[in-house]
Amino acid sequence: MSSKPDKTKASLISGKLLAWYDKNKRDLPWRRETDPYRVWLSEVMLQQTRVEAAIPYYRRFLEKYPDLALLAGAQESDVLKLWEGLGYYSRARHFLSAVREVRDTYGGAVPEEPDIFRSLPGVGSYTGAAVGSIAFQKPLAVVDGNVRRVLCRLFSIEGDVKKKKTEQAVQDLADLLLDRSRPGDYNQAIMELGALVCIPGKPRCGNCPVTDHCLAKAEGKAEFLPERRQKRKLPVAYLAAGLVKKDGKILVRQRTEGRLLRGLWEFPAIEVKEGEDTEVRLRDLFGPGAVVGRRVAELAHTFSHLRWEISVYEVTAFALPSGRPWLWADGGELERLAFPAVYASLVGCVKEKCT
Ligand code: SF4
Repeated sequence: MSSKPDKTKASLISGKLLAWYDKNKRDLPWRRETDPYRVWLSEVMLQQTRVEAAIPYYRRFLEKYPDLALLAGAQESDVLKLWEGLGYYSRARHFLSAVREVRDTYGGAVPEEPDIFRSLPGVGSYTGAAVGSIAFQKPLAVVDGNVRRVLCRLFSIEGDVKKKKTEQAVQDLADLLLDRSRPGDYNQAIMELGALVCIPGKPRCGNCPVTDHCLAKAEGKAEFLPERRQKRKLPVAYLAAGLVKKDGKILVRQRTEGRLLRGLWEFPAIEVKEGEDTEVRLRDLFGPGAVVGRRVAELAHTFSHLRWEISVYEVTAFALPSGRPWLWADGGELERLAFPAVYASLVGCVKEKCT
């Protein structure tokens, strides 16, 4: 049964969380930063990405763009190349647009005022609260997946966490627990507890600094909270891609339409619906005289809303498209262009000439 703590109990819990954090926090590169641009970059990278995966990207990004002014002047293609493999590329595009807006409208200084900061492209309530509290010490409580899990367990909140009512109950608790004298540290403390101790599945309650206050643990249901929604089956798109070679170069195409992976490069591909013939579809893409050869690779990638399964065929084509978004790429260009993760092994293989 959930029950809202009074102010005294809330500050006892947040005090314990902060003391635990001060002793146990991981030494992460962005934790040494106070520059709002760098804090913001880390928060953008950490959305949908594990800490260990984000660290090398964060370092490389700051080597190339150590400050906001340098990034604001960058080409989108160069930024996407640095982001290659990290996924969710709209984060990078939005971050670049937002940074340019900061340069053009706010004189290059990241706005401290939460409402203004949240009006920038790609900045939602999580990023707004995280950057506001960590970089500017604003009293804004973050709620991400880790925080949601800790709070649902600590206060035994049942019900679908995606429902508005449950979401609001979690946000109210987060606001109540927030330590207003150290909001950035407090937010990081509760997220760190969720990442290291109150983990998904079986939590490590023996190592938890607030175990004495945890309702779900007392009720023996910590493992079952937060309630998981039934996972829906993802739709699958079957694609046929062509590996087309000429004079030591490979034909690639930039994705210029739609939101998915826009701006990135790919081996030209076309969707093959149930009942359609793969060779016919590849000739739709490369022209009626195209000859479809052997299948050289099977690739797959799961996005949050869709799964791609791609069969790659050698194709000899005679009337090929030219000009943007098409490009005959040599080894150097394959190195320079940004490809989505699903094509990474094939790009490597083509560069090594192993197909
Ligand atoms: Fe999570 Fe266990 Fe701590 Fe409760 S006692 S907050 S379930 S780690």
